[in-house]
Amino acid sequence: MAEKYWETIKVQFCDHVGCEVSLDGEFVYPAEFLPDQPARLVSQRCSRGLDCNQWNNMTCVWAGTNPTHDPFSQK
Ligand code: SF4
Repeated sequence: MAEKYWETIKVQFCDHVGCEVSLDGEFVYPAEFLPDQPARLVSQRCSRGLDCNQWNNMTCVWAGTNPTHDPFSQK
């Protein structure tokens, strides 16, 4: 049976909240009888995305309020 896990992909300082936040991914690992299959990334989220979604101002794509700004794409 396949298994799903949330894992941290990247940790980065976010100017909007003034602290480090993580980009998390939901990975699906194949069943044991398919050992050569790589894990598949099926979903992503920011660790503070729900909090930022409650703000009145636009934040970023992970909060769902500004599709043109992705803080995790910056170096
Ligand atoms: S949802 Fe966007 S603005 Fe909020 S902490 Fe995450 S990256 Fe920063």
